[in-house]
Amino acid sequence: MLLGAIEAGGTKMVLCIGDEEQHILEREVIPTTTPEETTGKILAFFQGKGIRALGIGSFGPLDLNRRSKTYGYITTTPKTLWRNFPLLPRLREALRVPVEIDTDVNAAALSEYALGAAQGFNSCLYVTVGTGIGGGLIAEGNLVHGLVHPEFGHMLLRVSSEDPMPDGVCPYHKGCLEGLASGPAIEARWAKKASLLPENHPAWILEAEYLAQMCANAIFCISPECIVLGGGVMRQVHLFPLVRARTAALLEGYVQHPRILSGMDDYIVPPALGENSGIVGGLLLAKRAFQGV
Ligand code: ADP
Ligand code: ZN
Repeated sequence: MLLGAIEAGGTKMVLCIGDEEQHILEREVIPTTTPEETTGKILAFFQGKGIRALGIGSFGPLDLNRRSKTYGYITTTPKTLWRNFPLLPRLREALRVPVEIDTDVNAAALSEYALGAAQGFNSCLYVTVGTGIGGGLIAEGNLVHGLVHPEFGHMLLRVSSEDPMPDGVCPYHKGCLEGLASGPAIEARWAKKASLLPENHPAWILEAEYLAQMCANAIFCISPECIVLGGGVMRQVHLFPLVRARTAALLEGYVQHPRILSGMDDYIVPPALGENSGIVGGLLLAKRAFQGV
């Protein structure tokens, strides 16, 4: 059985055809331009390929309330052309297959939980640190949506007195995680591409501080069994030991569990599926759509 998956990002979309075992059989990347042009390319890719269902992990915010008239729409995105765009209904009507949609980070959380770094646990927090920051959560085996859906990227943090850009770059909030620790925040603060900053640059101590605050808050608030940190910024793998050590310091010994006390090497981890977390999550969503879960 063939399934379709889309990893819908603000700058590019990854399209893929796979099977029900999540093997990727065909893949194409297209730029995200206008909704009309982009959906045209998406339909051209999938039409006639015989997919039985489609799964979408998308940038948002999204309306994920199944009872809502605007279920599956992109809602208040700063990408104004995409505001209130009916992504799920448009693709479902054109392709005539069941479609399941979730946030890009929930799709990644789902794949890491089912097949990757969080396999065998009941809960998993997946956080991407890239152009933006977002978090997807599985708790007690279920994807968490809540009232709207979680927005980990806008968690408000304690700003470091060492930070030369204490307000951050988020147009909505001063001192939120995305505004302080996303790739563009690092680049605005140090006037250099994040990928070019050397390992001993103070940027990384500050970055680890903010990511550790997020991890500590997540541990206090939701107690996930595994925290997966992905996205472009986490290609700086030297961040992992810094984040683990600082998270432990921020917990101040208050949260006691062997997986936390043992240094967190297997607790705060990179995605086991690497760059494929999102698209494999899309294939898992497609399987759910087919099964009518
Ligand atoms: P997106 O979030 O757009 O889907 P990425 O997760 O790849 O894509 O994030 C892109 C951002 O990550 C870039 O803005 C850049 O700041 C940062 N980035 C990409 N590669 C690296 C790297 N090797 N080191 C540090 N930062 C990086
Ligand atoms: Zn914000």
